[in-house]
Amino acid sequence: MKYHAVNNPNSFGHIELSSESYIEDVSVRHYAVPLAEVLSDAKHGDHTHFELIVCDIQTSDGFKGTGYSYTGGRGGHAIKCLIDYDLAGFIKGRECSDIQALWHDMNWHMHYVGRGGLVSFAISAIDIALWDIRCKRAEQPLYKYIGGESPMARCYAGGIDLNFDQDRLLQNVQGYLDRGFGAVKIKVGKEDYLEDVARVTAVRELIGANTQFMVDANYSMDVDQAIDFSKAVEANNLVWFEEPTVPDDYLGYARIAENTRIPLAMGENLHTPFEFGYAIAQSKLGFLQPDASNIGGITGWLHIADLAKQANLPICSHGMHELHVSLMAAQPHAGYLEVHSFPIDQYTSAPLKLSACGQAIAPELIGTGVDFDLEALRPHLTQ
Ligand SMILES: [Mg+2]
Repeated sequence: MKYHAVNNPNSFGHIELSSESYIEDVSVRHYAVPLAEVLSDAKHGDHTHFELIVCDIQTSDGFKGTGYSYTGGRGGHAIKCLIDYDLAGFIKGRECSDIQALWHDMNWHMHYVGRGGLVSFAISAIDIALWDIRCKRAEQPLYKYIGGESPMARCYAGGIDLNFDQDRLLQNVQGYLDRGFGAVKIKVGKEDYLEDVARVTAVRELIGANTQFMVDANYSMDVDQAIDFSKAVEANNLVWFEEPTVPDDYLGYARIAENTRIPLAMGENLHTPFEFGYAIAQSKLGFLQPDASNIGGITGWLHIADLAKQANLPICSHGMHELHVSLMAAQPHAGYLEVHSFPIDQYTSAPLKLSACGQAIAPELIGTGVDFDLEALRPHLTQ
């Protein structure tokens, strides 16, 4: 597998793009957006705010595209610096529609200090801005541009709730049901796994047999602990067990998979197509969960969607539902869109909408469909 083996983005849609559009300016801003309450999981600890790293690209023919990445509260300043100091100047003057070549070149330009990691977050913000421009020039919403026939995407509410006591957990899950979700996920990874088992059992009792249910350990268990836990909750008919153990332990995933009937899911911590390639080949996963904010943007995400299709695996998403809804709606092998707990919908002009049957609806806005409310974000601008 090579970086240049990505799908040719020019193969999407039917619009011939002019070759007369050059990247004239690249600017980037960092926001630290507070959360209304502390949200915790097993390994990242407490989230008090999330970061947005927003990148604007201006073209020589008058288009402006906006891309972004996000974090759970750490690393955002470094991502901004990578764009400011290393990538902005590198791509200025390049043809903006040549997204595949830019993606490839940015990856190799930063390879020595990257091979994923923060570099993939920085490339993601730029790549998403370039796709915004591409869709705007084609006058199409993203989901249609990449071949989607319907804006609908199956989805679930992804809770960050390990710090909630059981009553608060159930209240939170009930809130998801009240909003119309037909699938919910909770965090696991308590010190004593029997407490996790009790929480899973209580949530299943609350939601009934017909609501889809997933759990996420944020890689907090070792392989044997994950096997013990999964055996103890198998009767609860879980759709998947997400990140039971560290994402780099590809063979450890396989051992867990061989010892449970619950399908495994991961992807939010895999930041290159190579890492996904290893996971697909070795980990016996049931679902792939790339995140366009850290896998190299829309170009990277579509590449993983392609790998998933070849491996006969459903493609899912992690985080940034406001963007992923458009990507997921266009995939014939779509699994579930994660509707994330960070309150991004308070800061965009098109908050995610659910259909009456609990499906997410991709926006019809021209471009990526993510249009930030800059007035709402302004108080949280850090530099
Ligand atoms: Mg997760």
